Amino acid sequence: MKPSLTGIVLEELAAFLEKRGAPSYRAKQITDWIYKKRVASFDAMTDLPNELRAELTAEFDTPNSEVVRVLGSKDTTQKFLFRLRDQNLIESVLIPASPALYGQPSDRRTICVSSQVGCAYGCKFCASGLEGWTRNLDAGEIVQQLIEIEQKSGEKIDNVVFMGMGEPLANLRNVLRAIRIINAPWGLGIGARHITVSTSGLAPQIRELAKESTQFRLALSLHGATDKVRSHIMPVNRKYPLKVLLEACDYYVAKKGRLTFEYILIAGVNDTDEQARELAKIARRLSAKINLIPYNTVEGLEWSRPPRARQEKFQSIVRAHGVIATLRREKGHDIAAACGQLRLQTNRAERGVRVSV
Ligand code: SF4
Repeated sequence: MKPSLTGIVLEELAAFLEKRGAPSYRAKQITDWIYKKRVASFDAMTDLPNELRAELTAEFDTPNSEVVRVLGSKDTTQKFLFRLRDQNLIESVLIPASPALYGQPSDRRTICVSSQVGCAYGCKFCASGLEGWTRNLDAGEIVQQLIEIEQKSGEKIDNVVFMGMGEPLANLRNVLRAIRIINAPWGLGIGARHITVSTSGLAPQIRELAKESTQFRLALSLHGATDKVRSHIMPVNRKYPLKVLLEACDYYVAKKGRLTFEYILIAGVNDTDEQARELAKIARRLSAKINLIPYNTVEGLEWSRPPRARQEKFQSIVRAHGVIATLRREKGHDIAAACGQLRLQTNRAERGVRVSV
């Protein structure tokens, strides 16, 4: 497959042009067409010579993922189902401004993007892992989710979280490239403080990120504060148990400053007083803030969210240990926690498998 138009990086483009003897100012002209004026083909770049347009067309693919379904409404969370050029399906979620969302400021419109088709990590509470991993997304397919959703919704996105389908750190090269494009002034120009990558806990990649110069925030999806609980719901914990994971986090925090924890509260699984105390200990060790997210039911899975009183008790125990912990309250936002369901339903429906929607 040719690299995609929306995965182009300025410096590489400059090198491509230099090899062909084209003037260097063309590089910025082209990235402006792609990321500012958002044209979908080189033919539309009317101030480029025809010959150069033909060369670019031969080298790069134009975006051809399309939105095939939208769920939700403008005032609440909206889910977008994309069909990619190889017919695979992915989901992205657009979340309106929220005071409690991922600890970010209240006036931001957030997109939750996917980084892979499916996921190999098989967390027991997640729809994205139910049919396994198919492939990595390239940087263009990640960036395209933002461009397409801004066009479809008419909203200006100013906060990006890699918390959709897939484990971003298992597709690190493409994710870092996408972040560069999303962050760069010649790209989408979204500030590094408003780009968050979430991981289920790939310890070696967390260490790698500590040395990475690309700027963004890191969130660790902890979801269990002891090995027993974490391994029960997140198979990745058997490979990188808490001791290994937290040492990688220590290293990351020493180099980069901070990370946050995501903790989905699941009734009777990880919502006990003891888990709250253990979670607080870990958070204090890493000076991490915690975002508590009440579980959103996934069809076909056995888990449920704890009653509101239990959620609040859990939060109060964590806070009593001097740790900052937010508890998400808005119902409409729960859709992000259930990422992967729409794709799963559509995939199964297309294969003729009966599902109740
Ligand atoms: S929670 Fe994340 S890492 Fe775990 S299965 Fe779902 S998408 Fe994969």
